[in-house]
Amino acid sequence: MPDELLQRLRRFHDDYFPGVAAQFQNLVRDGQHPTILFIGCSDSRIVPYLLTGTGPGELFIIRNVGAFVPPYDGSAGYHGTAAAIEFAVLTLEVAHIIVCGHSHCGGIRALYEEVPPEAINLRAWLELGREAVLPVQVTEEALCRTEQRAIVLQLERLMGYPMVRGRVEAGRLALHGWHYVLEDGEVHVFDVKSGGFVAAAQALHSGTGPYHPFTDASPGGSGGAPA
Ligand SMILES: [Zn+2]
Repeated sequence: MPDELLQRLRRFHDDYFPGVAAQFQNLVRDGQHPTILFIGCSDSRIVPYLLTGTGPGELFIIRNVGAFVPPYDGSAGYHGTAAAIEFAVLTLEVAHIIVCGHSHCGGIRALYEEVPPEAINLRAWLELGREAVLPVQVTEEALCRTEQRAIVLQLERLMGYPMVRGRVEAGRLALHGWHYVLEDGEVHVFDVKSGGFVAAAQALHSGTGPYHPFTDASPGGSGGAPA
C-alpha cells in the first residue's frame, strides 16, 4: 500500500518548497512577527490563510473544538489555549485577536446533543459554550444564533485576561468576532454598537469585541451577547 502521507511530504519538499524557500529562510533569520492571533474552530473546512489572504509568518493560530476561550482563572493547569493567548499577547504583542466561529459547527450542535460517555474531556470543554445555548427547538436558525452568541461569549472571556483587557483599554489591541458562513464564503462580523453580526460586504469595520475604547459601553454591560 503506498504511503500517501509520505508522498505528500516529498511533494511539499521537492515541488512546493523551492518556490518559498527564501521567504521561510527570512522568517527563520528575522523570527516571526505575526500581528494577528486567530482563534478558530478545529473544523477542517476553515482555512484561515485562505480566508484572510495571509501567508507564512502572518497568523498566530489557536484551533480547538468550537473556537472556545477558557476563563482566566489563574489555575495554571494544562491550558493550551490560555497559554497560547498569553504568548501571543505578551511575547508576540499581536495587535488583533480574531475569534472565528462558523456555520454548521459540530461543537455548537453537540451542545444540544449527547456526547459519547468516554469523551470526558470533550464534554467538559463544550461547557465553554453552554451559556450560548438557547431554550428552543433545535433548528438551523437556532444553531446559527447559538454559534454567534458563543463567539461573543468567548470575546467576553478574552476580556477576563488581564493582559488582554489592559491592551484593549489602552487601544493597542483590537478584538474581532467573526461568524464564517462556509457555504457563502462570507464572514459576518460582530458589531458592538448594534449587538449583532453584519455581513462583511455591508460592514464598516472588521468586527469589534464586547468592549471598544471608542464606544461608551457594550450592549447591556458585560452580558452583551446578541439575543
Ligand atoms: Zn466548529
